[in-house]
Amino acid sequence: MPRDSYGREINYLRLSLIDHCNLRCVYCMPLRGLRFTASEELLTAAELETVARAAAGIGFHKIRLTGGEPTLRADLLDIIARIRSIPGITDLGMTTNGVLLKELAAPLRRAGLERINIHIDSLDPQRLQRVMRFGVLEPMWEGIAAAESAGFRPIKLNAVVVRDYNEHDVVDLARLTVTNDWHVRFIELMPLGGGECARLSLSQFVPNPETRERIESVLGPLTELPKQSLADESRNYRLPDAAGVVGFISPVSDPYCGTCNRMRLTADGKFHLCLLNDDEVDVKSALRNGGGVRKVAEMLLKAVAAKPTGHRLDQGFSTERRGMFQIGG
Ligand code: SAM
Repeated sequence: MPRDSYGREINYLRLSLIDHCNLRCVYCMPLRGLRFTASEELLTAAELETVARAAAGIGFHKIRLTGGEPTLRADLLDIIARIRSIPGITDLGMTTNGVLLKELAAPLRRAGLERINIHIDSLDPQRLQRVMRFGVLEPMWEGIAAAESAGFRPIKLNAVVVRDYNEHDVVDLARLTVTNDWHVRFIELMPLGGGECARLSLSQFVPNPETRERIESVLGPLTELPKQSLADESRNYRLPDAAGVVGFISPVSDPYCGTCNRMRLTADGKFHLCLLNDDEVDVKSALRNGGGVRKVAEMLLKAVAAKPTGHRLDQGFSTERRGMFQIGG
């Protein structure tokens, strides 16, 4: 099992497949000035497979596909099938905004995807559109239904909470767990990339204790559930008599760096050592200069060893070079 220099077991790799997205969430992607990675600069399905094989070979067992919006990759089913076939990868998931899930959910499941997290910030069509710019509720909701019909369990919905945009919508989102066996998780804003989205993430920040209070004041007390795994970044609760789970992911008000088990690969082929730090290791150059599984495994072990101990948001430091859509969340 790979361990970093602070003794943390790092066994979870998040692969960003693309930095393009079909939405422009206010805290993630600006409307103007975007420059996307050219398609020939994205890692190919075969290169992604090499990275995943290298990771599995040194003890990684969990992989999550992300973006940008991973469903925009035309070869997504091929990527899933390739990773699915790797011995040692026991958990393969994807994070998506669900816009294209109505058509894709069943083929994704057949290709071997096991778990899916769907990002939805509001159940109100107008407010959804305002926060997840270009987002339209109906197809996203149909995407969630399609994921459930395709057999993804549990359905996990993620909402980023943004003051003056959707902080009151947390009640309706949490209410979904009363009758549905779903996990609805509330994520605190993080300032990434140094631009307008980072500024908004600071100015519109809502701490999760406030979100929790808002939910409890309407829906009743939340009872804490035991952690399923130490590395779960979500603190999980249940509403009275609810079928599902309400979770809080609180990187700012309750950081979980001490149990971080993640390594990230950006769409342009860099191991990104910590979400909130700029340090990277260029694996694409190695791949395109003849490096195979063994070379990538060596680089990954070095990247693991170099992981920073934790973020320094409280001291005003964050990643300056990349926005969330360029790292994958
Ligand atoms: N397009 C997919 C989606 O919307 O989930 C996957 C990529 S997106 C970058 C991954 C996650 O990042 C989103 O689900 C959202 O929760 C989170 N995210 C984006 N910007 C964020 C920010 N500034 N602070 C906290 N979370 C953020």
